[in-house]
Amino acid sequence: MGSGGSALGTRSIYLDLDGRVQQVVFGSRCSTAHLNDLVCDSAGINRCTPISLIDSNGATVSLDPGMPYNTHSTPYKIIQVGTPQLSQRDTILRDCLSQMAEQIASAFRIQEQRTEFSSRIAMLEKRLDAEGLKLVEIDKCKNDIRALKDKMMNCPDRKCNSNLTRSLSVHSNDTRGGAHYSANRNSPRSMSNPTLTMACLDYKPRTPRRDVPAYPKYMLSQETIHALKQPTFDVWQWEHNEMLSCLEHMFHDLGLVSEFNINPITLKRWLLAVQENYRNNPFHNFRHCFCVTQMMYGVIHHCNLQEIFTAMDLGILMIAAACHDLDHPGYNNAYQVNARTELAVRYNDVSPLENHHAAVAFHILSTPETNILSGVTHHAFTHIRQGVIELILSTDMARHGEILASFREYLKDFDFGNPEHMKVLKMMLIKCCDISNEVRPMEVSEPWLDCLLEEYFMQLFPQMEETMVHPLRESRDHYQELSVLQETLSKKKSADKVPEGDDAK
Ligand SMILES: [Zn+2]
Repeated sequence: MGSGGSALGTRSIYLDLDGRVQQVVFGSRCSTAHLNDLVCDSAGINRCTPISLIDSNGATVSLDPGMPYNTHSTPYKIIQVGTPQLSQRDTILRDCLSQMAEQIASAFRIQEQRTEFSSRIAMLEKRLDAEGLKLVEIDKCKNDIRALKDKMMNCPDRKCNSNLTRSLSVHSNDTRGGAHYSANRNSPRSMSNPTLTMACLDYKPRTPRRDVPAYPKYMLSQETIHALKQPTFDVWQWEHNEMLSCLEHMFHDLGLVSEFNINPITLKRWLLAVQENYRNNPFHNFRHCFCVTQMMYGVIHHCNLQEIFTAMDLGILMIAAACHDLDHPGYNNAYQVNARTELAVRYNDVSPLENHHAAVAFHILSTPETNILSGVTHHAFTHIRQGVIELILSTDMARHGEILASFREYLKDFDFGNPEHMKVLKMMLIKCCDISNEVRPMEVSEPWLDCLLEEYFMQLFPQMEETMVHPLRESRDHYQELSVLQETLSKKKSADKVPEGDDAK
């Protein structure tokens, strides 16, 4: 082996790099690690890779500054003896990088979690709002129940208490839900003793207290808004919530909300209370109320009544139309009088139903939450109350001849400035609207005839529904179910049946 040293204290070795000889020069004070790096760099391999040097005899040569020298003709071969080993610095660097990566990932995770938390919080807030409203309603219901209990306990008439309890239990089973003002359900069985519940008629009825009216807002299309003003409006294609929205629109459109300074939420509550105080009769129900009010609205537009009547008069017409059959029991005045019902006794056989409708209307208005007239002056309220009562009472067909005769008399020299003439005109308007089904298109008016006949029939034979109609309906439903079952079985059999052509194969 030749000398690799020099006068400057440098040393050198020769490496065989795939047949090419590479000289590596290093100082005498060079460290082993540095020398290792120099050799690796010369060979173009990772400094961390463990290597061995092999001489021409195949012997392993130690890699350190004091290693044996070689010559250009006897170069060392480099053998990799393992995978690259990270240096401490590299390890630290790698750890730092992985920590940074983790931190960045964690930052992203935090952002994702923050977004998720935000959406969950928003959802929880929504639920909290909904639950809060429920709690408010529950609380109000509790207060109502407490007030009723107090009323019962303070009522001196024990019979009255038991009757009131019975009345409340009937209400709680009512399929329509909600609260009602009925003090007189007029079931034929309860009519035999009209004096029994007279005292109970004085109790203050419950009101549907809801902070936010329950019916969802129905957005009226321009087409519907236009159709609402026509007598051809098809009243059968609307659900209750939609009819409520239509009524709400009418009150806004006629300027009554601004004229009477009505809180829009109170208007919603009032409409809801009106709806809930119509019973589920075949004819005298909320849809009939809607029909009459819609016809009144249509007549106001068609006849330009806004030019003739004051806004207050228009309000009287619309409120009276909406309330004119409130809590109608489905039995007419003749029945009330003949059966000596609570209403007939209370109102001395004089328009008992109409008096009751008007009374219920003002019971609803006596509750602040449903009082759409809370924004008018005392004088205006008195005027509106008088007007609404007059109009509702005028819907009693027993007074038809009398009202028509007056109107005919006034027509000879009608004076729009004469309050009496105008009062009779308003009476005629509500009377016309009340029986206006016949002027609607046949497909709209005809179903009402069936409804009227059904209600009349049930009035004549109050037990008929229970004893005959209900069992017949049940039987019909049962046979319809059997028929459907039979049809399904037949279809299944024919589907399961293997075609004849397949058998031959
Ligand atoms: Zn009516």
